Amino acid sequence: MNSLSDSLQYFKGVGPKKIKLFKKLGILSIEDLFYYFPRRYEDRSNFVNISQIEIGKSYTIKGQVLATGGRRSWRRRGFSIVEVAVGDKSGRIFAVWFNQPYLKQYFKVGQDIILYGKVELYKDRLQISNPEFEILDNKDSDSLSTGRIVPIYSACEGLTQRFMRQLIKNALDKYISKTRDPLPYDIRKRHSLLNLAQSLINIHFPKDDGSKTEAYRRLSFEEFFLFQIPVVLRKLKKKEKRGIIHKAGGVIFSKLIKSLPFSLTAAQERVVDEIKTDMSREYPMQRLLQGEVGSGKTVVATLAAVIALDGGYQVAFMVPTEILAKQHFVNIKNQLAKISTTIETVLLTSDIKKKEKEGIYKKISSGQFQLIIGTHALIQESLTFKKLGLVIIDEQHKFGVAQRALLPKKGNNPDVLIMTATPIPRTLSMTIYGDLDISVIDELPKERLPIKTSSYGRDKMGEIYEFVRNIARQKRQVYFVCPVIEEFQEEDLKAAEIIFKEFKNETFKDFKVGLVHGQMPSDAADKVMQDFKNGDIDILVATSVLEVGIDIPNAICMVVLQAECFGLSQLHQLRGRIGRGQFESFFIVVSEPKTDEAKRRIKAIEELSNGFKIAEEDLKIRGPGEFFGKRQHGLTALKIANPLTQMRLLKNARDEVITLLRNDPNLSQRQNLQLLAKIKTVFPQFPRLDITA
Ligand code: ADP
Ligand code: MG
Repeated sequence: MNSLSDSLQYFKGVGPKKIKLFKKLGILSIEDLFYYFPRRYEDRSNFVNISQIEIGKSYTIKGQVLATGGRRSWRRRGFSIVEVAVGDKSGRIFAVWFNQPYLKQYFKVGQDIILYGKVELYKDRLQISNPEFEILDNKDSDSLSTGRIVPIYSACEGLTQRFMRQLIKNALDKYISKTRDPLPYDIRKRHSLLNLAQSLINIHFPKDDGSKTEAYRRLSFEEFFLFQIPVVLRKLKKKEKRGIIHKAGGVIFSKLIKSLPFSLTAAQERVVDEIKTDMSREYPMQRLLQGEVGSGKTVVATLAAVIALDGGYQVAFMVPTEILAKQHFVNIKNQLAKISTTIETVLLTSDIKKKEKEGIYKKISSGQFQLIIGTHALIQESLTFKKLGLVIIDEQHKFGVAQRALLPKKGNNPDVLIMTATPIPRTLSMTIYGDLDISVIDELPKERLPIKTSSYGRDKMGEIYEFVRNIARQKRQVYFVCPVIEEFQEEDLKAAEIIFKEFKNETFKDFKVGLVHGQMPSDAADKVMQDFKNGDIDILVATSVLEVGIDIPNAICMVVLQAECFGLSQLHQLRGRIGRGQFESFFIVVSEPKTDEAKRRIKAIEELSNGFKIAEEDLKIRGPGEFFGKRQHGLTALKIANPLTQMRLLKNARDEVITLLRNDPNLSQRQNLQLLAKIKTVFPQFPRLDITA
């Protein structure tokens, strides 16, 4: 019983039952327990008197249980209420818990109790609903739980706050001397960081706000530092690889530029130059192209493709949906047909029949097909290329890191261009996509008119329908978008069907109405999209398959139903489907937001039109883990560090990692041994870095 990896079972009061509960929280060892940081703190050096409470604010109150009670609601079956009256010398307040009948057994008249929560006025009395609480045991009036700044953990039923606190205290007392600091001494010194032991003690049991802040800074730094190691390592290793030296500015490239029906925006030109330069270097390009929806990324990608094609290389262009693959295929094929008779372009999606697919595979591996546009089908194992020179991935946020990494492996260090329409602040992308070079298109083509966004409740549907009819009468087209949420998929699709029928037979019976969703057989979906594109459909009912990439300039209005079900970036992506021609466009969100978050999203989509601002707000609303997707970037490793509010610290950590790995890429020097040990627990394959993180 003397190592940090020891199980918790050696502690008093931790039996098999508790072990199970801890496991639920992800705590198996002493070390896990140390790194189980408080969710928040309560300053219990001071309690508020009940008489001084203001309605609507949150307080910590200490008092005595005066009475307990409970009831079942007669209005809703199975609905129960537990109620406790608590008083101090200045007044009384009621605590109520809904649907947690088991709580009742805990409360006894005369107990000292601490309550924490937001105070409301309910039928003339002060009340806190579902407060956090702690019953104070008079026998061992406990210095960990009162008269100080007290840590509050995310616990679960069966593990009380007092128990957690006591256990962590005991563990710290016994084991803190066993901790080994993964951060090398020099680095700590340069950034005035606490050592690990001190920071762990302070994060759990801070003496004051200052020591809490210092511990938080040190532990955040550690998280950023560990998280940056694989990112930076990949960046450094990139320069060791030898890739393809493409010759920029060949015949087809010049012809394509000349044949475009528009001139490139200044931003597009700049980015094309960056790509040209990058592709003609000897190490492989790894470039992220961020550009507002509708800024014209596709043509930039096509120009990049042509640079590779000019030199006789193959290009793989991967997109997340079949509809988008088809659209890119048709457009790009037509564009190239005008300027070259030699380039063969092919579409590869998973619904192509086996026989036909085998034929396509053959012609790809023989090199006959040079430009291959498709979906995930491109990363099928059995598909091989003859001479893959460039990989393009559109709408990268729809792919996981692992999926993205597979395609380039089909070539010999090909160049890689990744495109996204959710731009994020530069400091942040530098660290999160730290191994990629970044290009930004921050400008829309000139003749675009701004899109008018407006938001309504469902009671305004009649007026919206009339507005839509007016648009359709002018031979312009309209999208209606319905949400499809994974868990309710079937019902949602049924709902879309019902809306479609109702539109077709009633609401818009004088117009042509179509339906498209992700579960349709793809030839049926293709046909609908083609009809819509040709103007044979006036009003298209769709699910969020539209979210990515679709480009039909004559569609100038989009109505999003139940908009509260969509994420903010998703709404912005949807909005990007319109406003693509020179006509005024209308984005109408119909919603009944219930949560604060949903209200914030609806407000933001109404007020903000700039993609960077939208992404920033979305990041704030959802937090980085959700925003970037759980599977990506190892951001989930960040438990307390927040890249949005601690950008400076993140940058410092990153700079230190760069210096460190330049000097000691395998972390074999003596002062880095503790760090190596720690890294191995997080990234076991270090210093090899294949796909993970
Ligand atoms: P996104 O960046 O969202 O992928 P697209 O590449 O789909 O945008 O481009 C949107 C529309 O803008 C397309 O119809 C495209 O032909 C057009 N477009 C692209 N570049 C320009 C430009 N420089 N001037 C005018 N229209 C352009
Ligand atoms: Mg696009």
